[in-house]
Amino acid sequence: MLTTKEHPSADRVWKTVAESFPAISRATVYNTLNLFVEKGLLRELHLDPDSVVFDPKLETHHHFIDEATGAIHDIPWDRVQVCNLESMRGFKVREYQVVMRGTKRH
Ligand SMILES: [Zn+2]
Repeated sequence: MLTTKEHPSADRVWKTVAESFPAISRATVYNTLNLFVEKGLLRELHLDPDSVVFDPKLETHHHFIDEATGAIHDIPWDRVQVCNLESMRGFKVREYQVVMRGTKRH
């Protein structure tokens, strides 16, 4: 999980782990993922209201979701610029990321 370049859901992680360790419970995998998030080893992303995925890439980056395949692509931080943050008077921005949706050009 910590070396994947993908953004799997907890269920995906569980199914993959269960291929090698069939006895492992879903709860164990979920708890371990949450522990990793707590320890700062993984980031939890809420890219869609009904899906939470995990991201081992800790440095700040953006995401592009391919609506045709559901694939989540990492976009390097400096490829997208958000400006005018200083106009957000009254808000102290701790972090942000841009989530783009569309299709990949072939
Ligand atoms: Zn990512």
